[in-house]
Amino acid sequence: MKTLLAILSLGLLAFAGISRADDQAAVKPYALDYCVFSGDKLGTMGKVTKEVYKGQEIKFCCNQCKKQFDKNPEAGLQKYEDAVKAKASSGDDKSMGK
Ligand SMILES: [Zn+2]
Repeated sequence: MKTLLAILSLGLLAFAGISRADDQAAVKPYALDYCVFSGDKLGTMGKVTKEVYKGQEIKFCCNQCKKQFDKNPEAGLQKYEDAVKAKASSGDDKSMGK
């Protein structure tokens, strides 16, 4: 019964995949394509750095912005959340154009 074995091992693989996904789900991915500290698009200022703060991934366009965040992570996280909210409430492009 090779088929049964294959199904069993597939199930095991799937299980392993799920538990790994659970670990990653604890970190919320960065939802913006720019740096909230400088407003620059990520990747245009050099190497993008990131940090996970309270389960939220924060990306920075450069090390300077990361330093700014490290000085006051709480305010930085708030800044990021405000930016995400603003992005969500601004709606899609259809409402913007005339
Ligand atoms: Zn920067």
